[in-house]
Amino acid sequence: MAINTRYIVANKKYAHIFFDLDNTLWDFEANSIETFRDLFIKYDLENRGIVSFDKFIQVYHKHNSLLWEFYRQGKIVKEVLNIRRFSMALDEFGIGDHLLSSNMAGDYVEQSPTKTQLFPDAFAILDYLSSKYRLHIITNGFEEVQFRKLSYSGLRKYFSGIITSEEAGTKKPDPAIFNYALSFCKADVNESVMIGDDEEIDVLGAFNVGMDSILVDYAGKNNQSKATHRINSLQELYDIL
Ligand SMILES: [Mg+2]
Repeated sequence: MAINTRYIVANKKYAHIFFDLDNTLWDFEANSIETFRDLFIKYDLENRGIVSFDKFIQVYHKHNSLLWEFYRQGKIVKEVLNIRRFSMALDEFGIGDHLLSSNMAGDYVEQSPTKTQLFPDAFAILDYLSSKYRLHIITNGFEEVQFRKLSYSGLRKYFSGIITSEEAGTKKPDPAIFNYALSFCKADVNESVMIGDDEEIDVLGAFNVGMDSILVDYAGKNNQSKATHRINSLQELYDIL
């Protein structure tokens, strides 16, 4: 049997595990798609000329990515992003209906955090880890939205410290949010590990404060990662922790 050398590295004695939420435990993409399906039916888009749900999603993603880029560059505010991604997508199908766009935008923001799709084995691994370690969350996002995701999906009970960028006043990968989380959770950096799906935000963020990290690389694409460990599924956490 081949031995995976990644697991031979002696484990530090961790006491605290910090999890990222979106795209690490909570399946953002799957929950988004589920919300879009609900909206597609609720607003009867098929009979308004959008014959294919997949085509609608594709067009929405195109505008969403473009508008997110403008938002990151500070060219538009969040409220504009929220509505424009819908109005531009609908426009492309010949539906110029401002009320519909703003209703869909409002529903999307309201309903997507109530969706409950998690990555495989999330509950089993959290049951296991919570018997051995103190678990916490560090997430970039709004306090209310992220707490709703945690509550609806049944994840909240596993975590003692839940730190959102809104509450901390700064986002990952800023070292300040990691230091804030460590101090809030009374955790020593040498006894802590960050688990997340994003190399820059989670792994390098942790690295810059001297914290170990585990990259959850679902797509299996990042073989240049600086993470202490790189895994392709949550199940692999049993081998490491
Ligand atoms: Mg993430």
